[in-house]
Amino acid sequence: MAGEPQNDCLFCKIAAGHIPATIVRETETTVAFRDINPQAPTHILVIPKVHYENAATLAAEAPQAAADVLRETAEVAAGEKLDSYRIVFNTGSGAGQTVFHAHAHILGGRGMQWPPG
Ligand code: C5P
Repeated sequence: MAGEPQNDCLFCKIAAGHIPATIVRETETTVAFRDINPQAPTHILVIPKVHYENAATLAAEAPQAAADVLRETAEVAAGEKLDSYRIVFNTGSGAGQTVFHAHAHILGGRGMQWPPG
C-alpha cells in the first residue's frame, strides 16, 4: 500500500532503525542522518518515515509528510549553523537518484557552483 514500509528499501530500514545510520535529528514523521558518501563538509539526508519513491510522489500523495521533510531541512541547517546551503531532491535515475525512497540532500560548508552537473 502507498506509504507503507517496503522490505527491500534501504531508507525504510534506516527509518525503522534496522540499519545503522548517524542520526542527526528525528521527528515523528522524519529522520535526518549523515550521508555515508558526503559530497560536502556537511551532507545530511532528510527522509520521510513513509515510503514514496521520490519527492514528486511524496508531494502528491502525502503533502503533509513532504512539508515535514522541507521543514526539517531548515531545522537541520540551523542546527548545523549553515548560513548557505543547497537542498537537492534527485528525482529519477537520469537526475542521479539511486535510492528510491524520497529524500532531501542538505549540502553545505563549501562554495557551490551553478548550474550543478
Ligand atoms: O539522490 P540519491 O538517491 O543518489 O541519494 C542517495 C544517497 O544515499 C547517496 O548520497 C548515498 O551516499 C546515500 N546513502 C547513505 N547511506 C546508505 C546508502 C546510501 O547515506 N546506507
